[in-house]
Amino acid sequence: MHHDHDEEAVGYAKIDQYNVQRVANIADHYTDILKQLGENPHREGLLKTPERVAKALQFLTHGYELKPDEILKSAMFKENYSQMVIVKDIEVYSMCEHHMLPFFGKAHVAYIPNGYIVGLSKIPKVVDAFARRLQVQERLTDEIRDCLQDTLHAAGVAVVIECKHMCMSMRGVQKQNSVTTTSAFTGEFLKNDITRSEFLRLIATQLH
Ligand SMILES: [Zn+2]
Repeated sequence: MHHDHDEEAVGYAKIDQYNVQRVANIADHYTDILKQLGENPHREGLLKTPERVAKALQFLTHGYELKPDEILKSAMFKENYSQMVIVKDIEVYSMCEHHMLPFFGKAHVAYIPNGYIVGLSKIPKVVDAFARRLQVQERLTDEIRDCLQDTLHAAGVAVVIECKHMCMSMRGVQKQNSVTTTSAFTGEFLKNDITRSEFLRLIATQLH
């Protein structure tokens, strides 16, 4: 492992970890891709580009190295609270697996505890662990729901994700402002219209 330190940081150092061999392998391919695109990979501005792209791609897919259920298990607490817990406006950055272009937006996640609650900061981490892979928005939504449901044994889980897809905005149909919304529910959110409506109302309201 190789560490890149952000020299400009004062009192806090951002540390990125990369697999050196993997960066070199991916970079080699990008030198060739630049040639195939009609570029000169030896001109000054592109000299370090293959290596930068290789590092960026590793970062953008580092979710493969993470275990989302372990993230939840590390902060689960026995608690009798049984009302809906909502974490909304979670930033999502992912990559579509069809074009390897970004899609990004917000996730809103709720669960109804059934004996256990989880540290609230873990829910955005679970979203990120699944988002930092090659994805489709539909599967990302289901994976977050299933992980919360199976790990917390919740009485219900709700996930709504709203994203813009660069593969739609930058190419093809060029519907620049279209947003894709996906949702996935379990338990009480499926069975009980009132519970589901309350969740949808709460994520739509701007309280802040
Ligand atoms: Zn796409």
